[in-house]
Amino acid sequence: MIDLGILKGSSFVVLGLARSGLATMRALQAAGIDCIAWDDSEASRAAAAASGLPVADPSAVDWSRITALVISPGIPSTFPEPHPVAAAARAAGRPIICDVELLARAQAGARFVAITGTNGKSTTTALIGHILAAAGLRCEVGGNIGRGALDLAPLSGGGLYVLELSSYQLELLETFRAHVAIWLNITPDHIDRHGDLTGYVAAKRNIFARQVPGDCAIVGVDDEPSRDTFEQVERRAGIAAIPVKLETPVAGGVSYRAGLLVDADGYSVDFSDVPTLPGDHNAQNAACAWAACRWLDVPRELIVSGLRSYPGLPHRQEQVAAVGTVVYVNDSKATNADATARALSSYRDIYWILGGQAKEGGVAPLAPWFDRIRHAFLIGEATELFAGQLAGRISFSRCGDLQSALDAAHALAQSEAAGGGSAVVLLSPACASWDQWKSYEHRGDAFRSMARALPGAQILGRAA
Ligand code: ADP
Repeated sequence: MIDLGILKGSSFVVLGLARSGLATMRALQAAGIDCIAWDDSEASRAAAAASGLPVADPSAVDWSRITALVISPGIPSTFPEPHPVAAAARAAGRPIICDVELLARAQAGARFVAITGTNGKSTTTALIGHILAAAGLRCEVGGNIGRGALDLAPLSGGGLYVLELSSYQLELLETFRAHVAIWLNITPDHIDRHGDLTGYVAAKRNIFARQVPGDCAIVGVDDEPSRDTFEQVERRAGIAAIPVKLETPVAGGVSYRAGLLVDADGYSVDFSDVPTLPGDHNAQNAACAWAACRWLDVPRELIVSGLRSYPGLPHRQEQVAAVGTVVYVNDSKATNADATARALSSYRDIYWILGGQAKEGGVAPLAPWFDRIRHAFLIGEATELFAGQLAGRISFSRCGDLQSALDAAHALAQSEAAGGGSAVVLLSPACASWDQWKSYEHRGDAFRSMARALPGAQILGRAA
């Protein structure tokens, strides 16, 4: 836990009592700092109160004596409408911040590597943390992934915090400075919370705010808003701006293509046989991680061995089992067509399990990859919608639930792969999980257990 003693004499209201809010309250209390907590959910308030945290209705608060509102990044503080507590704090001229800001204030001596982008944040954050730890550097990994910022261990004397930061968190920072800032990519997302694409991009650009000469900005430049961002960053004196680009070598930067990256000086790394980093998208993540670790002076051989030993994250193209030559892949985190496209583009001979609660557009945008599908196995609420979209284009079966889909996919894949071909049974649902599961993690954990229970299954990846 982070010691917040440096904030003694301040007073805080903490709004939102999930992972980051609870960690914030515990850290404030441990440091003896005046604070009250609130959550709109009665159950969350009751649980917090039962664990000894001071819960009180902030509508009665005298904001003139409050230092700042620490808000959970999931709660709107501006768009589409500010939460009433945020509105009251703002009307009183009080800052609205998040836990990462408190971490930055309390650990002013540490260095920060911050990662943002629409897609690939968690992978890149985990990958950098893995490489740095494998290279023997002291680092703590968290933020929007894993542990909340104030649950991380204190690092003084040369430690590095590696933090995944969402656009919501980035809007709630006042003094935080990223010594190394990584911007992966931008596609329209979370527009409801930022008003429009411009607002979303502006929120993300806060990752470069307060960088000073000598700091490093690594920017994926494969989409228009990201290219504009790079141009802006590049103009700032003293900031080392490193572009990361698909395929084409780029001056002073890193280029990438599935399983391969090439550094500014022509040094290339082939990781095409690393099963945890398939596809162009993971090559982008790996290229950004490479640039960051090189900037931090990690020797090349150690970065290469870190890339090669990266264990991957659960539910993201996670290889969980193999039966014969067929590999079973859990991509439950793919809750929309865009994410599923990444998985489909990474394999050939795919036995594809999909469905759940459909997103707008369904699977129509995935047509460019249909020639890779041997058969589709439909589950959940989206079954009829997807059946309509796939009819006449690829063969499919209506399976109802995940176990039936896996059994059917397994039987077909094994019979067709008997000749020695390689194939994947891929759960990449392109749907939310809420119709049949508590979360995408719940769905993916179930798939992992089911696949590992298949007769003759060899366990791959973590034995989670
Ligand atoms: P985030 O934390 O930004 O949601 P993750 O690393 O958890 O990203 O990856 C989520 C999904 O996004 C992956 O399953 C994959 O489909 C897709 N993805 C990962 N990296 C990238 C990338 N660099 N570009 C585009 N899509 C990506």
